[in-house]
Amino acid sequence: MMKKTVQHSIDLTKIDGDGAFPCPKCAVVISPEDETEEVYKIVDTKVSNNQLVELTIICSNCKTKMKLTGFQHTIES
Ligand SMILES: [Zn+2]
Repeated sequence: MMKKTVQHSIDLTKIDGDGAFPCPKCAVVISPEDETEEVYKIVDTKVSNNQLVELTIICSNCKTKMKLTGFQHTIES
């Protein structure tokens, strides 16, 4: 068995607008604001000092796992 590794890393600080980005594999648009779980599912969250620092999600379309970082810059308001 291969170790579970996350191949794709998305830095939300590098994404303009509402934070939506295309899936690195199938290009379906993933929006962190979308909580319906139709496009992606959250599989892991990492919280530090009550702030979300890392989110591991899996694309519902192509099952690609990716890691989202950079939340600390989006919680300012
Ligand atoms: Zn995908």
